Amino acid sequence: MNLPRILIVSLGGTITMTSSATGGIAPTLTADNLIESVPQLAHVASLEAITQFSMPGASLSIQNLAEVARLLHQKFAEGIDGAVVVQGTDTIEDTAFVLDLLAWHARPVVVTGAMRGPQAAGADGPANLLAAVTVAADRRVSELGVVVVLNDEIHAARWVQKSHTSLTSAFESPGTGRIGIVAEGQVEILIRPTRDLLPITAALNHPIRVAQVSLGLGEEGWLLPALSGLGYAGAVIEGMGAGHVPAAAVDAISKLVDQMPVILCSRVRAGRVFTHTYGFDGSEMDLIKRGAIPCGHLSSSKARLLLTLLQSTGATEEVIRTAFGQTTPEQNS
Ligand code: ASP
Repeated sequence: MNLPRILIVSLGGTITMTSSATGGIAPTLTADNLIESVPQLAHVASLEAITQFSMPGASLSIQNLAEVARLLHQKFAEGIDGAVVVQGTDTIEDTAFVLDLLAWHARPVVVTGAMRGPQAAGADGPANLLAAVTVAADRRVSELGVVVVLNDEIHAARWVQKSHTSLTSAFESPGTGRIGIVAEGQVEILIRPTRDLLPITAALNHPIRVAQVSLGLGEEGWLLPALSGLGYAGAVIEGMGAGHVPAAAVDAISKLVDQMPVILCSRVRAGRVFTHTYGFDGSEMDLIKRGAIPCGHLSSSKARLLLTLLQSTGATEEVIRTAFGQTTPEQNS
């Protein structure tokens, strides 16, 4: 039987981390090591392994991901049927989204990792890798965009968030739920996500910085006037509720909008930022009137990444507004 050809690209993360001489665990294992620890993989796919980086998720950069996207393009052109990116779970919700935006691949791309290191009792890495390869070997998955697979659950890159610091069930898609599962070695697709965000072709030669500032109770945004001098090219304001900030922060946001694109998000993990309900000072209507762009359904960190990629293409304000407009699926009227 001809098994699908699946590429495993390891970037590091807990799944590759073993005890280090200096204490704690640190990345040591290669993609080949990971494959050797899961003999069942040989029944699912014919594998090619690349260890591209060996770092914790928190240190990955958008430039690193652009390299991964280029590698995937090249390997798909050479005939690989699907790819699994293995990495630290701390940034999976970010990296999967960036890979999804940078490249709409015609083949499945799955991102996975582990919550427990390979030396821990009940290590989840091997099961996650097996499930991820099973998903990557399923042609139907290419229509879903980049997906994240952990704990036998399949999540869309657009929605997934890490929701717990330790549980093996840490990944959730608040507001939408998982889009599929792996059971008895089979992929079950439960929901098909909308694919309304257009792919971005960004040069990404030099880092663009977008600030993410959370304005909670009593936080009046004193940092905001400093952003432009620090070299930020845009800002994401993470407000409360449906996109609200303290009235005392409004002036600083107004001034910021004259200097850079400002995206309005919410610290609430599910639901869209409102656009036309509340009219008080610091409400979504007030901030939008002053030029802030509502982020739709995106989380603040995904909104920051989208704005970063858009800014690195030199996008105009109109293009940025249109892109964030696409983050809210069309309503049926
Ligand atoms: N806790 C992380 C992980 O699951 C560490 C990292 O993101 O590299 O891999």
